[in-house]
Amino acid sequence: MYIYIMKSERIQQDIMKILSSPFLKKEDIVPILKMETKEEMEALQSLAMKVKQKEVGRVVYFRGLVEFSNVCRKNCFYCGLRKDNKAVNRFRLNEEEILHAAAFAYQNRYGSLVLQSGENQSEEHIDFVCRIVQQIKSKFDLGITLSCGEQTEETYRRFFESGAHRYLLRIETSSPQLYRKWHPDDRMHRFETRLNCLGVLKKIGFQVGSGSMVGVPFQTYEDIAGDILFLRDMEIDMMGIGPFIEHSNTPFHQLNAYSIPQAERLDVTLRMIAVLRILLKDVNIASTTAMQVLDRFGREKGFLFGANVIMPNLTPSIYRKDYQLYENKPCLDEDATQCNNCLEVRIASVGETIGYGEWGDPLHFFRRVNSSPL
Ligand code: SAH
Ligand code: SF4
Repeated sequence: MYIYIMKSERIQQDIMKILSSPFLKKEDIVPILKMETKEEMEALQSLAMKVKQKEVGRVVYFRGLVEFSNVCRKNCFYCGLRKDNKAVNRFRLNEEEILHAAAFAYQNRYGSLVLQSGENQSEEHIDFVCRIVQQIKSKFDLGITLSCGEQTEETYRRFFESGAHRYLLRIETSSPQLYRKWHPDDRMHRFETRLNCLGVLKKIGFQVGSGSMVGVPFQTYEDIAGDILFLRDMEIDMMGIGPFIEHSNTPFHQLNAYSIPQAERLDVTLRMIAVLRILLKDVNIASTTAMQVLDRFGREKGFLFGANVIMPNLTPSIYRKDYQLYENKPCLDEDATQCNNCLEVRIASVGETIGYGEWGDPLHFFRRVNSSPL
């Protein structure tokens, strides 16, 4: 036992030494992303937990997720909602359905709501989103996060002025070359546009979330290490990362030979979460639903490796089958009440408490804004 503890301490010291270097490079992070022995995994987890406890506490914040429309103009090669997937029935929730979900979140003391949709830049859709955000804000004390893809600066400003104060836009990959392989080569799918959107969101004053997928075809460990450095350098406040999961109606179905095997993707994601927690300290990190697809306890493991946010699904169950970014999405036929009870038990089972009724804003944002020269 004593030898075991000594060994764990040594591994933790090694990780700390690597990650605290001011000259940290991708190549230095790769061996951590590949740590696979039980001892290494446990050491990484212990270290991430220590940092989490100190920086943000062992509290998990709820953001009720409302997937309010699957209409999307894009054709990302990995995603089941891509425009060319004609097998999907396209829908948009009406105002009443969204307000009902918001009321549920509020009554159950979720501090925040995430409204997510496919990418739709039509004036009518933008007006709808602004109206909904205003209505929710006028009725309930909830923090609102939007995740509606790339939009113009003017639209982002309108979203912000309507009352949304957080925005999620994953960069997907920080490698422009890889981005090109994952998307059609046209004006609608440009790495530079996505990158620019993140800058605009920060400038407007949003708390900004971003992240990437793990195990998408052609991605290497070095690319994933690059994503970590990207999130650090872009001063992102909220991390949303998750394993890639195949969808049969997409071009990236059955490209297994070119991917980190599915069986390894959860562990790599957990190690990435741990590295992000140790390196970036006071950010919020989501334990994403895709992690639960690969392991029944994937999200609980996420908390043990440093995550502190969960997004219980509040989308009415009749729509869920048509909002499948990937297949085998869990809880397709559960309603919000069932989810709620199940989650409470799951979170308590790993020793975390729930930040009921709190917005749970990322501390990183306040540090970033207060230290900004502006
Ligand atoms: N349309 C918006 C928001 C919805 S998509 C946008 O693209 O930003 C939300 C996220 O789902 C994407 O950012 C992507 O990282 C993730 N996603 C899409 N397809 C996936 C797949 N097959 N496996 C895992 N995650 C996927
Ligand atoms: Fe549309 Fe987002 Fe899916 Fe791309 S990832 S196809 S933008 S929903």
